[in-house]
Amino acid sequence: MKRFMAVVLVLALLVGLVPTLTVTAAPVADLTALAAYYPATTPIFMSLRTDDGYIETLDGLVNVLGSRFIRPAGTGPWLSLYHSVGAAAHEDPASPEVQQRLAAIEAELRDRGARVIGEIHANARTTSPEPMVQFKVRADSPTLKALLDLAGRYKRPLNLHAQWDPDTAQEVERLAASNRGAQVMLAHCGSTADAAAIRGVFARNANVVCDLSARGVPPLQGRGDSFAVYDERGIRGGWKQLIEDYPDRFAVGLDILQSWEEYEVTVRAIRLGLLANLSPATAEKVAYRNAQAWFGLP
Ligand SMILES: [Zn+2]
Repeated sequence: MKRFMAVVLVLALLVGLVPTLTVTAAPVADLTALAAYYPATTPIFMSLRTDDGYIETLDGLVNVLGSRFIRPAGTGPWLSLYHSVGAAAHEDPASPEVQQRLAAIEAELRDRGARVIGEIHANARTTSPEPMVQFKVRADSPTLKALLDLAGRYKRPLNLHAQWDPDTAQEVERLAASNRGAQVMLAHCGSTADAAAIRGVFARNANVVCDLSARGVPPLQGRGDSFAVYDERGIRGGWKQLIEDYPDRFAVGLDILQSWEEYEVTVRAIRLGLLANLSPATAEKVAYRNAQAWFGLP
């Protein structure tokens, strides 16, 4: 099959007894095939880059998925801000360029039912295969704080890709502290963060949660395997205890996959390596209940 459209994160959840999934934005034809892989009730969250095919692709996805599609907002406007204006835009939320993007994102939240802002890239310097997002800006910039305020006003999470460089880690906490009424969802749980670091963040910040997309083997095999939270055999390091201690702070996810074979082994690792090694109550939350709550799903 075609390579999945190179994008950012896609988080999907399974409703019911089957564990949650995460998928990546795929061409419509692939998406139709993908639909055969999970139950008809599975909602999906995915964020797409802006390119010529964006609107067409999004409309196609919605047609295929119907009410299962969890509409995101903001990835394209955020990337276009960086690539057209540069990092300076992140320091000046009152600028016309930023105001135009914030208004566009707010319209998605207000008028089109978007349930999440993101994926928003603050630091994907070395933790994304996609060149478009391989940059680093402050995670506590005034513009990002304004975006978090917008998320808080509409009670939607802000999904943030922030790889765990020491300065980025501190900035993420300052961002979370800037609005305790808004939720920061760490994409890939900080990508390179270890369990001890996330434990500290959770203890200090009740409004920070994690998605576990791209934190398993596969798909990390061969590209950051050491940052895996789980593999098909079980949960690594201190992560199992952390998830049990904070059962309301994690949700499963997939991220970008290269083939249906990789999709199947990835979902298998989520089911047998991650969820099967958690207590039943925690597994249910991590598989789908937490995501239901974060996205405000019925
Ligand atoms: Zn990401």
